[in-house]
Parts: sequence; structure tokens; C-alpha cells
Amino acid sequence: MALLEHRLPQNVAGDFFVDESCIDCDACRQIAPETFRDHGDQSSVGRQPSGPDEIRRALMALVACPTASIGTVSHQNAREASRAFPDNVFDDVFFCGFTSEASFGAWSYLIVRAPEDGGNVLVDSPRFAAPLVRRIEEMGGVALMYLSHRDDIADHAKFAAHFHCPRVMHQGDGAAGLGIEQVTTGEAPVQLGADLISIPTPGHTRGHQVLLYRRQALFTGDHLAWSPARETLIAFRDACWYSWSVQTRSMERLLDYRFEWVLPGHGRIHHAPPAEMHEHLAGCVAWMKTRS
Ligand code: SF4
Repeated sequence: MALLEHRLPQNVAGDFFVDESCIDCDACRQIAPETFRDHGDQSSVGRQPSGPDEIRRALMALVACPTASIGTVSHQNAREASRAFPDNVFDDVFFCGFTSEASFGAWSYLIVRAPEDGGNVLVDSPRFAAPLVRRIEEMGGVALMYLSHRDDIADHAKFAAHFHCPRVMHQGDGAAGLGIEQVTTGEAPVQLGADLISIPTPGHTRGHQVLLYRRQALFTGDHLAWSPARETLIAFRDACWYSWSVQTRSMERLLDYRFEWVLPGHGRIHHAPPAEMHEHLAGCVAWMKTRS
């Protein structure tokens, strides 16, 4: 719970505030950009929300914050905001909100599919929060949990136990020691369903993998994201825990695939026609080769 006595001085005056426990994960700035801003190494309220829509988005950011760093001076009912997650990104793909500090606020997603198509897929793990779990139950539960890599697994065991769903994770990230039901190995893509391909992308971690859905959306974990500052796709050079040269090679292999959505754990979501996305990806590979 955010503490008023620890309110950051950078907040503008008013009801909403961020306290000093903020870990700068960027979630609030993506969810309610009209309210929250980056003032350096943390977020603060740059403008108080006005009107029901802005207040609703600010409350959704409050609910999603991994460290409960967002508070309000007055009593605000966040019940509706809690039920707003999973929040639609496009078609049958939803952002789960309720990020976890254990994953440094990484984003997780729910793909909603009919049971005859294999059922819903939870991509990486959100916080195991009761309102979210209830909403996911209402949306059909979880048939498969896909874990991109070891950093973003948060409450995976609780979700797997609650929804009785198998988890998919790569051997290179210690999947066997975590009791993962479906352990992927090697560097060959694995077809997980008619519309799902797991693509190993070692580099950020040894066992990192990304998920291609319907040849339309790529769930990229911490491998690839959009940078609004550079207006292109990027990889995180300073957060590469295994091998930059291996990650560069993994990125190059992604050029063989077409997709129009990039949905990362950290960094920004991006949507563009496949040819444009491919160009950005090629540019990212070229940039990575200059940074080794
Ligand atoms: S969501 Fe919470 S931790 Fe993340 S930047 Fe905003 S206030 Fe900070």
C-alpha cells in the first residue's frame, strides 16, 4: 500500500500520488500516460486524472503496479479497475495487469482461444491476485502456461496448480528443477498447437524462448521490445544475462518469421504491418552487431 508520508516530491498536488517504493517498471506510464510520467529513475503523477475515463485508467495503473507504489489521498474504489484486467490489446489477446515485483513488473498476457482450438494460453506469470484469477476463470481459465524465461515466472506454480494447466519452459532456464510439465530443448522451433510456435531465442538468458501466435503476434519476453524514444525495435544490451552474441544470432533467426505485433515483458508493445516490423527487426539486428 502506498504511503502518503513517503509520497515523492515530484508528484503534482492532488489526489493520486506515487511513493518512494516505485521501482520504475514503466507499467503505470503505459496504462495511464495522461497521468503518470517518468521524472528520472522513478514515476510520478505529472497531471492529476480528470474525468471518469482518466480516473479509471489511473486506478488500473494502481492495481497493476507491482510494488503498490500508487496511492490516493481520498478513498477511491478500485473494484471496477481490478475487474478491468485482463485488458484487451487486440482481438483475443489481453494484458493481465497485476504485475509482480518478483518479475520486476514484467507484463503477462492471456490468449483467449476456444476449447476446440486448445483453450486459453497464459504467457508468463502475473501476480496471483484473486480478482484476476476470478476474471480468468470467467474467460475460460488457462489450458496452457507459456514461460518465456526464468525472470518472468512470478506465481507460475500457483496458476498451474489452480488451473491444472501444464507449463512450457526451456531446459536452459532450469525448467526441470521447477517441476515444469513440458520442457523444451535445443534451438529448433516447437509447434505447440496449430496456431502456436515456440521459438528458442537464447541470449538474454540461456533458455529464453518467444511465442508466435497465428503468425501475427510475437510474445517476446525480455528478448525484443519497442522503444518509443528510438522509434524502433530494441534489445536490452545492459540486461543481457547470458550472451549478447548468442542473443544477436537468435534475433537474426527471427527474421525468418512474419508478425505484426510485438508483445514484450518489458518495454513497449508495438503494432505495424509485417513488412515494416521486419525492417525494424533487421535494423535491430544490425544495431546489435555494432554493440558486441
Ligand atoms: S507501476 Fe508502480 S513501480 Fe511501476 S513505474 Fe509505476 S509506480 Fe513505479
